Amino acid sequence: METTADLLVPSADLLVHDADLLATVDDGRREIAGGWVAVTGGVVSGVGGPGDPRPVAARTVDARGCLVTPGLVNTHHHLYQNLTRSFAPALTGGLFEWLVTLYPLWARLDEEAAYVSAYVGLTELALAGCTTSTDHLYVHPRGAGDLIGAEVRAAQDLGVRSHFTRGSMSLSVKDGGLPPDSVVQDDDEVLAESQRLVDAHHDRSPHALTRIALAPCSPFSVSTELMTRTAELAERLDVRLHTHLAETQDEDAFCLERFGRRPVDYLADVGWMSDRVWLAHVVWPSAEEVTRLGAARVGAAHCPSSNMVLGSGLSPVAELRAAGAPVGLGVDGSASADAASLWLEARTAMLQGKLRHGAGSFGARDALEIATRGGAACLGRTGEIGELSVGACGDLAVWPLTGPAFAGALSDPVEAWLRCGPVAARHTVVGGRFVVEDGVPVHPGLDEQLAVHRRVSERIQAPL
Ligand SMILES: [Zn+2]
Repeated sequence: METTADLLVPSADLLVHDADLLATVDDGRREIAGGWVAVTGGVVSGVGGPGDPRPVAARTVDARGCLVTPGLVNTHHHLYQNLTRSFAPALTGGLFEWLVTLYPLWARLDEEAAYVSAYVGLTELALAGCTTSTDHLYVHPRGAGDLIGAEVRAAQDLGVRSHFTRGSMSLSVKDGGLPPDSVVQDDDEVLAESQRLVDAHHDRSPHALTRIALAPCSPFSVSTELMTRTAELAERLDVRLHTHLAETQDEDAFCLERFGRRPVDYLADVGWMSDRVWLAHVVWPSAEEVTRLGAARVGAAHCPSSNMVLGSGLSPVAELRAAGAPVGLGVDGSASADAASLWLEARTAMLQGKLRHGAGSFGARDALEIATRGGAACLGRTGEIGELSVGACGDLAVWPLTGPAFAGALSDPVEAWLRCGPVAARHTVVGGRFVVEDGVPVHPGLDEQLAVHRRVSERIQAPL
C-alpha cells in the first residue's frame, strides 16, 4: 500500500520545468513549448510537456522565460593557450607565423600552468553552456611533468565532462618542422605516454566524465611513422583519433612539397580515413575530398572564429554535412580565437553559413545541431550527450531570453537565442549537477585560480 510519505519521495534529482521552449535535439528534434526535463542519477529520466505528469524532484528549476537545450559540446580547444591570450606580438601573422612566435613561450608550460589554464578555460566554457569539452594539448616540453593529468584534475574538480587528447609533435625546426627542439618528443616516448594516459584516465563506461583520445598535432609537425603508429595504437586501445587538417592553403603547399600529396591523401596513406577520426578545421578540402571524408564518416570540428582570426578561410560545412561527415563545433585555442564561447561559435557558424549559401541556409537550428548532436557524433557519443532524451547524460543549458536584447523576439525562441544576445547560460548542468548556477560558477575556487592564472601568464609571456 502506498502511504503519503511514499508519494512525497522524490522520483527525480532535478526537474527543469516550464521552459518557454525545450529544444531536445533528440532523434525527432522535438521542441516542446512549456516543456520539462527530469534528471535522476546523472541521466535524463523524463522529458515532457505541460500535459504530461511530472515527477516529484528533490530540486526544481523554473525555466519560464528561458530556452532549454542540451549542454553544448566543444570538439576542439587548446586550453593552455589562454595563458597567451590576445598576445600582442602574435596578432597579425597567419597560422605558421603565429605558431613560430608562440612556441617558445609555450615551452614554459608546466603542471601548474596546465591545471590553471584548464580550470579557467573550462569555467569560461561552462558559463556559455558548454557541458562537454575536448582539449588538444600537443606541447609537452621536456621535464614539464604530467600536463594532461593536471588538466584531468581541473576538470574533475569542476565536474565537467571532458575528452582530453594526448597531442604530440615530433618534427622540430631541425627536421623541417616549425616547433623548437625543446617541445618535441620521439615516437616511442609519445606512444608510451599515450598508452599510460589511456590506462590511467580513459573511462569506457556509459555516461563517463573523462575520456582520452590520441592526437598528433598536424601532418606538418609529426613524422609519417608517428601518424601511422598512433592510428594503430588507437585501434588497439579502442580510443578516438584527432588532429588538425586542411586548415590553410599553406598546409596544402607544405604537404605537396614534403609528401607529394594533398593533406586528405596523406591522411588516407597513414590509415586515418575512419569513423574513429575527427579533424579540426577542414577548411580547404576539394569537393572530391569532401565526398571521401563523408563516405568514411570522418568528423570535422568546425572552428569559425579561429578560421577568420587567422585568415584561414571559410569551411565547407554544408557540403561536409551533406556528404555524411559528422560536423561539430569548436572554440579552438584561446590564443587564436581568443574568446571561448560556444554560443558565439554557434552564432558565427550560422553567419558564415548564410554568407556562403544565402539567407535561407544554415539557421539557428543547424547551428544548435552541430553544437550538440554533431559534437557528440565527432566524439563517438551519439545518444549519450548532445541531446535530451531518456537515458542520455543529464547535461543541459538554461538560456534566459529576457532583457533588452530579446525584447520583441516572440515568434521563434531558437532563432532568437542565436540572432539576439549575446547570451550566457543562466544554468549549466552536467550529469544533473550544477556547474553554473544563476550565471555564477558553483565551484568556489575561481578567484584564487584567476590570481594564479595571472601570475603564470606573466611568467610565460616574459621576454625570452
Ligand atoms: Zn587547433
